[in-house]
Amino acid sequence: MIVMKFGGTSVEDGAAIDRSCGIVAERISRRPLVVVSALGGATNALLEAGRLAADRQLDKAIAIADALEKRHVALLASTSEDFARLRELLRAMSAIGEFSLRTQDLVASYGEALSSQIFTHRLKMLGHDAVHLDARRAMVTDETFGKAVPHPDETAARLEGLARPHIDSGKIVVMGGYIGATRSGITTTLGRGGSDYTAAIVGAAMNAEEIQIWTDVDGMMTADPRIVPSACKVKEISFGEAAELAYFGAKVLHPLTVLPAVDKDIPVYILNSRKPAGSGTRITKNARPTANVIKSIASKRGITVVTVSSSRMLMAHGFLRALFEVFDRHRTAVDMVATSEVSVSLTLDNTAALPAIQEELKPLGEVSVKDRLALICIVGNNLKYTPGIAHRAFGSVKDINILMVSHGASNINLSFIVAEADADTAMRKLHADFFREFDPEVFEPPV
Ligand code: ADP
Ligand code: ASP
Ligand code: MG
Repeated sequence: MIVMKFGGTSVEDGAAIDRSCGIVAERISRRPLVVVSALGGATNALLEAGRLAADRQLDKAIAIADALEKRHVALLASTSEDFARLRELLRAMSAIGEFSLRTQDLVASYGEALSSQIFTHRLKMLGHDAVHLDARRAMVTDETFGKAVPHPDETAARLEGLARPHIDSGKIVVMGGYIGATRSGITTTLGRGGSDYTAAIVGAAMNAEEIQIWTDVDGMMTADPRIVPSACKVKEISFGEAAELAYFGAKVLHPLTVLPAVDKDIPVYILNSRKPAGSGTRITKNARPTANVIKSIASKRGITVVTVSSSRMLMAHGFLRALFEVFDRHRTAVDMVATSEVSVSLTLDNTAALPAIQEELKPLGEVSVKDRLALICIVGNNLKYTPGIAHRAFGSVKDINILMVSHGASNINLSFIVAEADADTAMRKLHADFFREFDPEVFEPPV
């Protein structure tokens, strides 16, 4: 069997859904299990409605719900019942003025809960034998609302009972991505962009032959095509390279996606639902060497650098432990670190706990914070052992101020920090330099 995941743009309206249903229909002999995202933009709209309701701007929240209802009802009339429930929920939230992570998950879950019903309905209308599986019955997670962690074994056991018999009898199973539930049945989500992760967890649980991520670009590109229009498709990329790119801003793939698939050696393809005849990008365990070395460049905005300076650090040990313990206590991930003899700089992309972190860092030294920065990340296997890469990279961006650098920790990534305002220029300059020529073995120009 195979797992086919369709992202928001691949199910944004009736035409997109029909196109995606057609792609599934052509692969029925491979026994597909379909994972769908919410209709394009629906998750953002739902969360905005929730935020407005909790902020006691109920009219605006209801207006968003009404507009979403129109989109959904046009595709499946019965979804109006769900919208009646959603409006009740929004009213209750505005009465208590609360929007906890748990409630956010419940509100956001409407997106995938409904898109998966719509997709199933459409497949049936087109004459296919399809069954809907409520993801909240199959995807078992812990209780970390907003970013729940799946329990793979329990999820696998549930899928064996709920999905396998249908797949074996030739039916197409359709479920929502991104959403799940705790053991006691409370709705959770896997974090934004989490439908890719659902696809990987399900693929690993069902021992899929292949996981296909259908999206709105030809595959993993040499840069985000929205920033660098001349970006080219990468035919094949390793799990390690893809994970770095995903983590550092290549939104095309959720960072965690690759892990369950790596463990089981399941090939993952990124494919374009608007051009289904394309060969996409294959994500493999080991990368083939390439003359270019660099496979792709990613950027991540909204980065904050925290610097702690203290003369007590001079020749002392235990300082870094004390420093990292502060971030650990506040469950805040650090992406990049640079140290000098008397100071440490680290980057964060989640600043929710920053005020508390700053307070707790004060006893360690002088703390300074700089925000509105961007991380630029150049990725390619064996980059660490290839002379000239750093020279070329920094040469390309010689007119741009670089605030922090990380190189050498991994064999595949060179990253640095610039002002957010410089990020797109840096991307274009780097891309123009590193991809002056495309090795046809590795890259495929846009058609
Ligand atoms: P989906 O809704 O299908 O999950 P996403 O919006 O999450 O799609 O991801 C696809 C988008 O990722 C593309 O439209 C593209 O702009 C962006 N992107 C960023 N970096 C890359 C990259 N290196 N290759 C391809 N797409 C990228
Ligand atoms: N719909 C969710 C989001 O927008 C999950 C996903 O699309 O992957 O984040
Ligand atoms: Mg996505």
